[in-house]
Amino acid sequence: MIPIAKPIIGKEEQDAILEVINSGQLVQGARVQEFEKRFAQLCGVEHAIATSSGTTALHIALLAHEIGAGDEVITSPFSFIASANCALYVDAHPVFADIEPDYFTINPVEVEKHITPRTKAILPVHLYGQACDMDPILEIARKHNLTIVEDACQAHGAVYKGRPVGSFGTACYSLYATKNITTIEGGMIVTNDAQVAERARLLRSHGSPRTYEHVALGFNMRTTDLNAAIGLVQLNKLQKWNSARRENAAYLSTNLEKIPGVVVPKVRKGCEHIFHQYTIRIQNRDTAAQKLREKGVGVGIHYPTPIHLQPFYKQLGYTDSLPNAEAASREVLSLPVHPSLTRSDLDYIINTIKEL
Ligand SMILES: *Cc1c(COP(=O)(O)O)cnc(C)c1O
Repeated sequence: MIPIAKPIIGKEEQDAILEVINSGQLVQGARVQEFEKRFAQLCGVEHAIATSSGTTALHIALLAHEIGAGDEVITSPFSFIASANCALYVDAHPVFADIEPDYFTINPVEVEKHITPRTKAILPVHLYGQACDMDPILEIARKHNLTIVEDACQAHGAVYKGRPVGSFGTACYSLYATKNITTIEGGMIVTNDAQVAERARLLRSHGSPRTYEHVALGFNMRTTDLNAAIGLVQLNKLQKWNSARRENAAYLSTNLEKIPGVVVPKVRKGCEHIFHQYTIRIQNRDTAAQKLREKGVGVGIHYPTPIHLQPFYKQLGYTDSLPNAEAASREVLSLPVHPSLTRSDLDYIINTIKEL
């Protein structure tokens, strides 16, 4: 089986973990701080706050921006559920704006249509490792005085017109095992806003600026030095791995684009896609997925149900019709693109699709 994702945790990571264990300093020590510093540099921002997951990063980021009851947060219906759930965690209301069919990211024109006096934030999701169309989104945010919280959980190292993803507002990353780099479980908030950074730090650890002094209702959403030690090793490899993903994607696209019934992913002009997922549209998707799996190609469907059509969101009363997101859910198929693939793996994937 050629897996859809393959975390690469090797000797260097093992050594880094052992070093932490032997040092006796396992939680929130030097490694976490160093990891935060390095991650901030990656995004070209001032502050980074490591968390226990991408989901907790999103949760804390919204709280740190004082988004709460009655506020509306505009996000993409075509994402992992956490992109919308984070608004619910803080008693805000997720509002869905449909996507651009070419890039699968939120359509700025649709964002603007959904703005009301209660809109407080836009939460663009850089899906599959490709930046949203940030220029018009920033313009809308400026015009309506809205906060931007980027869901960059799939976009470590992605670039939008020369500017790193994660530098447009406050941004959240996931470091889960299958992302482009991992700490096994983990997340990161990055921001240039010193006040937001300070609040996020407090909320991450029981609202506690000093031991047993609590100034806010916080949580335990910390990470550990063990996780950070892995992350530090992984950060050194990110650019190399992203390049390998881009090369794999280019090879797949060159060979797949001529096949009738297949639409290969488009890269936005002037942007660097990091191919967290390599996602095609394909006719008779479900049959294709089944046949590929039978032949040993680990494919994924990201995502089979848009968020507004999830049973839980229907229970909440969502009745949106978002045709681009709904069509994408029926047609998308993610193929393996990770750095461990060999040329013969890629040829096998291509030939198996040709045979369909
Ligand atoms: C992975 C992911 C998350 C959640 O991250 P976790 O670390 O799994 O909590 C949120 N949004 C998107 C788009 C993701 O891909």
